[in-house]
Amino acid sequence: KQISIQTASKTYPVFVGTGVINQLRTFINNAFPSLSKIMIITDETVADLYLFDIQHALADFQTRLCIVPSGEKAKTFDVYYQCLTFALENKLDRKSLVIAFGGGAVGDLGGFVASTFMRGISFLQVPTTILAHDSAVGGKVAINHPAGKNMIGSFYQPEAVFYDLNFLESLPLHEKRSGFAEVIKHGLIHDSSFYFWLHNHIFSMEKLAVPDLSYMLARGIEIKRDFVSVDEREAGIRAFLNFGHTLAHAIEAEAGYGKWTHGEAVAVGMLFALQLSRKKAGLLFNHEHFKGWLKQLGYVTELPKEFALNKLLDRMKQDKKSIDQKVNFVLLKDIGSPISYEMTDEELLNELYIFQKGE
Ligand code: NAD
Ligand code: ZN
Repeated sequence: KQISIQTASKTYPVFVGTGVINQLRTFINNAFPSLSKIMIITDETVADLYLFDIQHALADFQTRLCIVPSGEKAKTFDVYYQCLTFALENKLDRKSLVIAFGGGAVGDLGGFVASTFMRGISFLQVPTTILAHDSAVGGKVAINHPAGKNMIGSFYQPEAVFYDLNFLESLPLHEKRSGFAEVIKHGLIHDSSFYFWLHNHIFSMEKLAVPDLSYMLARGIEIKRDFVSVDEREAGIRAFLNFGHTLAHAIEAEAGYGKWTHGEAVAVGMLFALQLSRKKAGLLFNHEHFKGWLKQLGYVTELPKEFALNKLLDRMKQDKKSIDQKVNFVLLKDIGSPISYEMTDEELLNELYIFQKGE
């Protein structure tokens, strides 16, 4: 399946399916007639599993392989700098292409390298995680600063995304769960029938079959497209994609990055946002039913007692989505109808208290 992403700065295709990396060669030949070299950026884990596959798919071209540490460790200044050094030493030029081959971390790093090397060279995303149905689309690329996640980055769209579902099989369960939380998010904020389809079809992370994966990831990408195509640089509705993320980012930071996967924190964040939605936006929704489903899928569904609420609040106010230290929450009036809602500190602390107590 091919989905076309149209943004103000670029229109590009996302190919979703099993075996789509076999189409890379033809695409590159057509799209880059004067291509010089390809720099593949991947991480240690993905290289161990799939190096042969990507090299086979790109056998016709001059490739240079840059392997970075797995996970968030890829998104540091040091690794970013090493990638640029690698590109210079290997004499990449403006006609070169960067291919980010891996999860969201490699995609964010690779995209940022491509966006800044020689003021920007072309890049392709070849995602290998469920989460990356989200991160590979929309053009946000970034690395972290010790003071905050994704604090250094840019908006830079890829030339194409090749999302080969064969790579997803080797994902550990907690990584599947992490990515699936973003799929649920896409349903909740934009498409109630999709949300209910997920709720009625997906009962375990062990048994995610390709036809279901293919449908849900393509639908998730389409929903993300609907938000980013009208608002590439997040001046308005793109912010609705942050549903569940305000508390999630605070949890991730407070626990120490890497302790929680992103999506597992988002699941807790969505539960909290739904609590707020019932009280402040009049949402009618069977919260217990939703929570039971998340539990069944293996998610944490409570805010663990070890989190100090005032610290979480401080983190939320520092988030780059917050303006003037005011915390803006995305709430749902209904499934598929998000709104933005500003919370006072007092209100927020009180609601966090209720949430943590589990009432
Ligand atoms: P990731 O890239 O860290 O991958 C998670 C782990 O799975 C890593 O250890 C990786 O080595 C491993 N892995 C990757 N593919 C695998 C495979 N096929 N089989 C087995 N193991 C595999 O993270 P992620 O969860 O894909 O993405 C999270 C990152 O994405 C975060 O840094 C987050 O900030 C970013 N993100 C960006 C956007 C965006 O719009 N740019 C959106 C959401 C998240
Ligand atoms: Zn997210």
